[in-house]
Amino acid sequence: MATNNLAPKNINVLRSLAEHPNPLQYLMQLASEKPEYAALAEYLGVRTAMPQIDFGSLPPGTRGEFGMRGGFNAQKIPENGAITLSNRFLNQGYDQTNAIPTLTHELTHAAQGEMARQKFQKEILDQNAKQQFLDAHKKLVFNPKGFKSNKSTYGAGMLADKLNPAWTKENETYRASNEELPAWAMGVAVNQNPLTEYDDYNTPAHLNSTLATEYQILLDLATRDAKANPKKKKP
Ligand SMILES: [Zn+2]
Repeated sequence: MATNNLAPKNINVLRSLAEHPNPLQYLMQLASEKPEYAALAEYLGVRTAMPQIDFGSLPPGTRGEFGMRGGFNAQKIPENGAITLSNRFLNQGYDQTNAIPTLTHELTHAAQGEMARQKFQKEILDQNAKQQFLDAHKKLVFNPKGFKSNKSTYGAGMLADKLNPAWTKENETYRASNEELPAWAMGVAVNQNPLTEYDDYNTPAHLNSTLATEYQILLDLATRDAKANPKKKKP
């Protein structure tokens, strides 16, 4: 097909989330073009575990947060948890894709919580699908019987430690924790804005890309298990 390179650009293209009548819906539509986000959304959808997502006021420096039931101050949090994205993402002139890494990061936390529940699901129709998920979770996330030292039973932390023990030690309370490592890795993977660096923690080379690849493998096996062994509907 012939293309006309002189045709004017579509002047109706929306430039920032704030200019869209439904910023959240538009953000999710943009995000779904990235395979890492799409895999998370599919997994949480199959498990009927998609958290509530809203824009809201967060402290300076906080781009997003995920609140879970049962946590501190969690009375009013819905059953699947709640993601708050900073309403600064709605500012005029703010690139419309800037919130995608944060949304993906927080959805990774939602998936971490849901997989922990999925591991203990009792109703099993397809043992093979269940076992593949459990084996991957043991290898990539947490192996209760792995090694003597507590730390070395966590897959993400082990990898970080192998690549750069000093960085891992320095960041152990937040960025290099076993929950944050995959969430940051998935966020980095979906960053589309070449002008912003999503991860500014001086992370060891290859750590994010390896963890994002591993997490997608895990999501794939978790989704297969979720489809083969559906969770019981609540009465
Ligand atoms: Zn996080």
